[in-house]
Amino acid sequence: MSSLLITNIGELVTNAPPDAAAPRSGPPDSATPPDSGAPDSGAPYGGAPGPGTFASVADAALVIEAGRVAWTGPAARAPAADESVDAAGRAVLPGFVDSHAHLVFAGERGAEFAARMAGLPYQAGGIRSTVAATRAATDDQLRANLRRLSGELLFQGTTTFECKSGYGLTVPDEARSVALAAEFTPEVTYLGAHVIPPEFDRDLAAYVDLVCGAMLDACAPHARWVDVFCERGAFGRDEAAAVLAAGTAAGLQPRVHANQLGPGPGVQLAVECAAASADHCTYLDDADVDALASSATVATLLPGVEFSTRQPYPDARRLLGAGVTVAIATDCNPGSCFTSSMPLCIALAVREMRMTTQEALWAATAGGARALRRTDVGHLGVGARADLIMLDAPSHSYLAYRPGVPQIAAVWQAGKLATA
Ligand SMILES: [Zn+2]
Repeated sequence: MSSLLITNIGELVTNAPPDAAAPRSGPPDSATPPDSGAPDSGAPYGGAPGPGTFASVADAALVIEAGRVAWTGPAARAPAADESVDAAGRAVLPGFVDSHAHLVFAGERGAEFAARMAGLPYQAGGIRSTVAATRAATDDQLRANLRRLSGELLFQGTTTFECKSGYGLTVPDEARSVALAAEFTPEVTYLGAHVIPPEFDRDLAAYVDLVCGAMLDACAPHARWVDVFCERGAFGRDEAAAVLAAGTAAGLQPRVHANQLGPGPGVQLAVECAAASADHCTYLDDADVDALASSATVATLLPGVEFSTRQPYPDARRLLGAGVTVAIATDCNPGSCFTSSMPLCIALAVREMRMTTQEALWAATAGGARALRRTDVGHLGVGARADLIMLDAPSHSYLAYRPGVPQIAAVWQAGKLATA
C-alpha cells in the first residue's frame, strides 16, 4: 500500500478541530496529537451534531493512505511517504459536497430562461416540459446526460453529490430514474412528489397514493432518501407529510423542498419529520428559524436558484445568527438553476447572502455532508475519505474573490487523482 504526501500547502482547510487527529470517543485531552502519525483506523471522524466551524492549517502537509486522510499538520513535521506532491503554496480543501441536484432529465429550457430574464416569473409548472422530454428519452440518453453533468461536477471540485428523480412521475420512469442515478452516486433521492403530472391534474389524492404506493415500492430499493416539493402549486402539508411517512416506512430518510416560493409549512414539517435537510428556506418566519435552530435539520441554501430566477436570496445571516446549521448546494436542474458549479454558489453566498468566505466554504463542504448525514466527507480530519481539491490559489477565499475563474488545479477522490 503506497502513501502520498502533499506538502508545502499554503492553506489546508480541514474543517476538523486540531485535536481530531484520530476518531475517538473520549474527552479532548485524551485525543492523539495531530502530528503523531497515528495509524488510521479507517473509521470516519465522528463530527458531532451542532454548528461546526471552519478550521485550517497554514504551511501544512497531508498524508493519504488507503484512500483516507492519514495525517495532517505543519509541513515541517510531516512524516515520510512513498510519493509526494509539492503544492507550491497553493490551498488544499475538502472536496465539495453538493447535497441537492436534479440530474436525471432530458431536454433543456434555455428559451424559458431567456423569457424569464425578459420579465416572465418562474412557476413550478415549468417542470412539466422536462417531464415530457424525460419520459421520451432512452435510458442511454439519460445516462449520457448524467455522465456529462457528473463530470462537470467533478472538474469543479465536487466529490460527493446527491441526485434526485422527479422528472419521470410514472412508476417505470421514476424507477429507471433512481436506478440510473444510483450508477453515479450512492446519495439517491426519490422525488416522485416533485410536481403533479398532467394526467393527474384533477386527482391529487390518486397521485399521492401512487407516490406512496407502487411508485415508492419500485424506487425504494435504489434510493437512500425521500423528498417532496412542499409548495403552493405542488404538494401541501398533508400530502407532503403522507409522502415522507410512506418513504420513511419504506426505509428511506426524509428531506424536503421547503419555503422556496413563499411562506409555507415545509420547514416545520421537515423538522417534525427529523428530516436531514430543509432545502431553499427563502421565506421563513421566526417560528421556522427557531424550529431549525433547535433541531438537527440542516438549512440547505441554493443561491444559484435566486440568481437564475431573480428571486430574493435567503437570509443566511439570520439563520447563522440563530445557530442553524447551513449548507450550500447547487440545485442543478434544467429549469430554475442550471449550474453545476459549487464555486459559483460559494461566490454568491459570500457576495449576495453576506456569508464570510469561511462560512461559505464550510457550508459547501462540511455543511453538505451534514445535510447528507455523512461523517466521512466534507472535512479532512484523520480518517476522512481523501476527497480533496487543490486550488490554483493560496487561499479558499479566492473562490469568492475571483468569481467565474477556473481555479481547481486538481481533485483527488478517495485518494485517487481524478482530475489534474
Ligand atoms: Zn431542487
